[in-house]
Amino acid sequence: MQKDYLKKYYLCDNRVLLTVIKSTDIVNKAGKLHNLTPTTMAVLGRVLTMSAISSSKLKNEDSSVSAIVMGDGPVGRVVSVARYGALVKGYLDNPTVDLMPNSKNKLDVAGAVGKGKLRVIADYGFGNPYVGEVDLVSGEIAEDFTSYYATSLQQPCAIALGVLVGKNCKCESAGGLLIEVLPDALEDDIKILETKINDFADISKILKEMSIEEFVAQYFAELSPVEYETMEPKFKCDCSKSRMKKVLNNLGESEVDEILKEVGKLEICCDFCGAKREFQKSELKFKK
Ligand SMILES: [Zn+2]
Repeated sequence: MQKDYLKKYYLCDNRVLLTVIKSTDIVNKAGKLHNLTPTTMAVLGRVLTMSAISSSKLKNEDSSVSAIVMGDGPVGRVVSVARYGALVKGYLDNPTVDLMPNSKNKLDVAGAVGKGKLRVIADYGFGNPYVGEVDLVSGEIAEDFTSYYATSLQQPCAIALGVLVGKNCKCESAGGLLIEVLPDALEDDIKILETKINDFADISKILKEMSIEEFVAQYFAELSPVEYETMEPKFKCDCSKSRMKKVLNNLGESEVDEILKEVGKLEICCDFCGAKREFQKSELKFKK
């Protein structure tokens, strides 16, 4: 099977940017690591797909974009972090939630997320991360990020995201697109794109049947697409034993003693990938 990839195009003589991603492997890896249900796979899968798209713009190695969806629905918080090179990781509070399909017979992402806020933290690696927050529009994720781009970044855009889950809770296809309208775009460009975005309600189904190149040729030919970048997004956690050790060191000796007394061991589990690492107190160096 084809690996995940992401491609960027100029449209309308460079007045519009298009990013398209296939993210099936990312979603399946998240599904395996977190034992996701079809519903939570759709929720986390859409957020991870969007995060990979957002991070594809990052320009230096120390930069990252984090998104936290804070809804009042049963899945709780959804957290994703995407680093330079479109490397993503993420989790949600309640991975076992599984809801009945919604009235359109689709996985009920909005019902699982509920009402609340979307916070995005963009860290360009120079200190002072940029934090933006918007109300969730629908909880369907694509519309919520569209609102974030429009409100916080003042960037008009259109976003489509989709996760198609098949038998045995396997993601058959996941993907999405971001269309950004640049300041010199013409009224006509915007009109065409506004009607076009309605074609992508089933983006995961469409991308299951064709490559990104075929997709762009079929849906955007009249806007003269010119490809300018390809990337390979991946689900990759960057946790390490030394970083976890730092967490324990920073807790301080009395707190660590307390944990040892209550739990009997010093073990840290990474929320993002589930990796567990155990430490001996003698390995730690507390700050005086
Ligand atoms: Zn990890």
